[in-house]
Formats: sequence, C-alpha cells, structure tokens
Amino acid sequence: MYHVVGGGIAGLAAAYRLQQRGHEVEIFEGSETLGGLAASYDTGGDPIEVFYHHLSKSEETIVELAEELGVGDRIEWLVGKTAYYVDGVVHPLDTPWEILAYPHMSVYDKFRLGMLTMEIDVRSGIPSFDTYDDLREFEDVPIKQFLVEHTTRGVYENFFEPLLDAKFGDRKEDVSAAWLLGRIKFRGERDLLRGEILGYPNGGFDALLDPLVESVGRETVTTNTYVTDLGIEDGEVATITTDQDGKTETHETEGVVVAAMPNVLEELAGYECEIDFQGAVCAVVTMDRPLTDTYWLNIADEAPFGALIEHTNFVPPERYGGDHLLYVASYVQSDEEWLATADDDEIEERWLDAIGELFPAFDRSHVTEFRLARAPRAAPVYERGYRDMVVPYDLADDVAEGLYYAGMASEAQYPERSLDGGVEAGFECADLIAQKND
Ligand SMILES: Cc1cc2nc3c(=O)[nH]c(=O)nc-3n(C[C@H](O)[C@H](O)[C@H](O)COP(=O)(O)OP(=O)(O)OC[C@H]3O[C@@H](n4cnc5c(N)ncnc54)[C@H](O)[C@@H]3O)c2cc1C
Repeated sequence: MYHVVGGGIAGLAAAYRLQQRGHEVEIFEGSETLGGLAASYDTGGDPIEVFYHHLSKSEETIVELAEELGVGDRIEWLVGKTAYYVDGVVHPLDTPWEILAYPHMSVYDKFRLGMLTMEIDVRSGIPSFDTYDDLREFEDVPIKQFLVEHTTRGVYENFFEPLLDAKFGDRKEDVSAAWLLGRIKFRGERDLLRGEILGYPNGGFDALLDPLVESVGRETVTTNTYVTDLGIEDGEVATITTDQDGKTETHETEGVVVAAMPNVLEELAGYECEIDFQGAVCAVVTMDRPLTDTYWLNIADEAPFGALIEHTNFVPPERYGGDHLLYVASYVQSDEEWLATADDDEIEERWLDAIGELFPAFDRSHVTEFRLARAPRAAPVYERGYRDMVVPYDLADDVAEGLYYAGMASEAQYPERSLDGGVEAGFECADLIAQKND
C-alpha cells in the first residue's frame, strides 16, 4: 500500500495515476474537505473557488485528465478581459488598439514591450530571435535591471512595476528575469480582437475534482486526518503515522508521496526547502450588480489590495443565481504587515471603503455577502536562483527510499504555480514509483 499526504489536486492526481499503474493507495487529508487551495464555496448556483482560478491555453495535462475522466467537454474557453486602473480611469489592455490608446506609455515604450512579448531582442537595432531561448542565462539577473536594459524604464515603471507590486510586493526586486521570460513563454493564447482566452469548467473546478475523487474512490480518502510522522528504517520509509481527532495510528507503507507545502515535508522528513512563500488574503464579494466590465483589473493606484477580479465578467452571473461575484485579493509578504495582523472585519471595512474610493458609484448596499479566506502559503517567490531550490520528485538520495514529493515546490510548478502543475507533479511521482516497480 502506498500513501499520499494531502488531498489537494496533486495528491488526488498522484493517487489516480498510482491506481492506473496497478498500485493500492490511500490518501490522508488533514482538513474536512478535499481540493486544498482549489476548494469552493456554495453560491446561489454553481460553486465558486475560495481563491480565483482559471486555466491557460498552454496547460494541457489537466485538460487531458479532464478528458480521461469524461468531463473534458465541461472546460470552456472564454475571454478574460484585463485592464489597468490608473488615476481613476479603467484602461482596457486586451487588443492592439487598446494598448496603443493606453496613455501611460509612449509609442516607443509600446514597441519595446511588444518586441519583448514576442521574444525579439532589438537592443542592437538588429532583431535577434534567440536571445531569450536559454532561460538559465537570466536566472541570476534581477528583473528590474533586465527590463530597463531590454525594454525601457517607461515599460518597467508604467507596465511591469504595478504588476510586480501586486504579485510580489516589496520582494519584487528579488525576482529573477528568468521567471518573467518563463511567464512570457508560458502565456496562453490571445484572441487579437478580444483578449486572452482562459479556461474554466462549467460548474467550477468541482466539476473536475468531484469525478477525480470518484475515480480514485471515496473509500481511498480519509479526511480530517493529519499525517504527523514518517518512520524511516534502514534508509527506507517504512511507516506513516496519522492523527484523527487525537487518535494516533501507525500504518505500514511501501512508499509515501507528500503532496502538500514543503514545510510539511520538512516537519515529516526533515527535508529543508529554501524557497520563500508568500501568503494571500482573498475575499469573494457577492453583489447584486456588476462593479466593472473587466475580469482582471490591476490596480496601479494606491489601494490596500493588488487586483479586483470580477469573476462574473468571465463566467456569466446566471450560473450563480444572478449574483455578481468579485474577488478582492492581495498577497502578503510578511507576518507583520497590516493584512496579516488585521482581523476579517477590519479587512472587510477597509477593502470595501477602498472600492468605494476607486469607484464612486459603488455602495455598500450592493454587497450581499463578504467571505474572506487566507492562505499562509499561496505562491512561491520566484527569486533569483529559484531553480536550484526546487524539491526533487524522488527523495531517495536526499532523505529515504520510498519518499516522493509533489507540491508547490516541485519543478512542474514553475514558472507559475497552477492546478495543471499540481496534476503534473502528482503524475511524475506516480510514474517514478511505477518505474521502480517494473
Ligand atoms: C490566490 C490563489 C490563486 C490561484 N490561482 C490559480 C489559477 O488561476 N489557476 C491555477 O491553475 N492555479 C491557481 N492557483 C494555484 C493552485 O490552487 C495550486 O497550485 C494547487 O491547488 C496546488 O495543489 P496541491 O495539491 O499541490 O496543494 P494544496 O491545494 O495546498 O493541497 C495540499 C493539501 O494537503 C493537506 N495537508 C497539509 N498538511 C497535511 C498533513 N500533515 N496531513 C494530511 N494532509 C495535509 C492540506 O490540507 C491540503 O488540502 C492559485 C492559488 C492561490 C492561493
């Protein structure tokens, strides 16, 4: 029997693939629900993820999994409109002419930005098409230095800096240029006339997680059960200890996949991962009318949040009983900052006030529900040297034979952590186990 620690998408994917390869498996999930960071709230219609989620066109593993599970046709590819809020104005930035009309960058800045996004280096005046092929060359280059050298200061300050502020806060200067280039390559598909095409399952991500759980078998999963220890004998993982409401049990095991954050791996097996994580605070605001007509609004002004993500401008409100759903989200870099210490009511007050300041037509009476969630580890800080800190799938050489890791610190979660990366990491571990048993 193999064991999986964590019933998020990575753990479920690992168990699914292990079963396909003919192995018996059991999943232990500490909380009462499955899905981890992709868990959902109820609404007046379809469930909605606690933290905003969509797929990019380049993510294929999760789409293939959906097809295998017979729910591939549930994934819809929709236009997600993006815009910048600057000085009281929402500037749509999806189509070439919207970008040309954006007043906060010069025509030359836009040309340099366009060249970078097409991965063409025009620094010498003669276009070079292979400068950005090998990302390792940019691993140790700070992102700001790279952008100022490879585009212009205007592109950095007026386009990338607000995005980096929202994503990495005061850690932005630590981020590697290789990460940005990786993101540019990872970027999905654009409809030139309408904007970026993003995936979302009809019925929410539960439409994918539920059949995955059914396929793995409800009896395979034990919720409300924390894994508290791993027993290692003669260099091999031999036992796994669980705690369910104070009741401790030790099970013999053939091998363990830790499909959780790397701090769990450290607690269980002493493997230290040096990657820094940032937290996230995210609210789902239910409203009786729309706030904007944009899906993803980056706030380049002073605001106590980084982005407003109006889900029902992406997926129609009819799916939610006619309600309009807005995510208000911010990353958290340190335990001392206001967001980390404020209680839920304070955050609700300040965020709704700030929305009112940005959009004078907004009124508190439009809000029918405000639900807040926190993730202490929501995303890695993709700083310089990140690739050397990634946790290997197979920890035989580092800790013990029979120990595997599929989580946010896995290779598949670079350059962006995603559900697709979780599935890939789970599959990688299961395939390595299967190979060793062949
Ligand atoms: C704000 C935010 C926005 C995101 N946006 C997107 C997006 O748009 N698109 C996208 O694809 N992805 C997005 N993601 C990322 C995506 O949610 C994650 O990459 C993915 O869910 C990670 O899955 P996982 O299984 O590796 O980890 P998790 O979902 O964290 O699952 C780990 C599980 O392990 C359990 N666990 C921990 N310790 C123990 C223990 N000792 N014993 C038993 N169980 C334990 C936890 O309870 C948890 O359920 C977003 C994430 C966040 C936070």
